[in-house]
Amino acid sequence: MEILRVEGVNKSFGGLRALNNVNFSVEEGTVQAIIGPNGAGKSTFLNCMIGRLAPDTGTVMFGDISLTGMKPYEINQVGVSRVFQTPEIFSELSLIENIMIPTMAKRDGSFALHAFKRLDQDAEVRDKALHMLEDVGLVEKRDDISGSLSRGDKRRLELAMCLSQDPKLLLLDEPTAGMSRADTNNTIDLLKRIGDRGITKVVIEHDMHVVFSLAEKVTVLAQGAIIAEGKPEEIKGDPRVQEAYLGGAHL
Ligand code: ADP
Ligand code: MG
Repeated sequence: MEILRVEGVNKSFGGLRALNNVNFSVEEGTVQAIIGPNGAGKSTFLNCMIGRLAPDTGTVMFGDISLTGMKPYEINQVGVSRVFQTPEIFSELSLIENIMIPTMAKRDGSFALHAFKRLDQDAEVRDKALHMLEDVGLVEKRDDISGSLSRGDKRRLELAMCLSQDPKLLLLDEPTAGMSRADTNNTIDLLKRIGDRGITKVVIEHDMHVVFSLAEKVTVLAQGAIIAEGKPEEIKGDPRVQEAYLGGAHL
């Protein structure tokens, strides 16, 4: 069954056509990757799916819900979470507070600040947050200030923030960007474990190592258009993909 269907999405920034008639779909319970060189339009595409950007034309369907025109928090509320290229965490707050806020926001449908006032009193949310931190291997640091974490740990924290909302669909923009190989491998393992919970994932990536370890299907974006789609091994040998990457990243 399809969980996501994108049809005819176009997006321009002034004279620059960042997305050119993109059609894309994701089967429920699978891991799908979107790869492409820098500037291909990957982040723009993600932002169009989660309501941060409005496509000029086209539709985004999440099951039978049209996400087109919905606000980011509304999209989040129906079960779509995302991890951005640059971690977005509350740097001055502790790790556990960082998890409790989105958990409460999702549960209550309320603004984070309102939820924050009641943080200490909510044992149920606190327990859940501790579980999440355990899941991503950060429980020991639960009372540390999040801004002091390493880049890899910040990413893990952000992932835990997303997971605490029990999403049906998780979109990740370069989840291993800037990580050491060891941190990258840890993150891959973590993402695989998340898969066991049946969360559908779309991973935007630059690093083919990550894609091959995770994705069942790969979509290649170059200059705003989809140039190839298929299983990882098919994509790797595709001359159009090799060409798109020339002068840029590695395959
Ligand atoms: P990727 O994530 O694949 O590296 P992006 O989606 O970030 O690519 O960018 C695609 C193209 O759109 C790039 O040429 C980029 O410079 C341009 N772009 C992205 N966001 C904006 C914006 N807000 N305003 C103007 N140009 C943008
Ligand atoms: Mg990007």
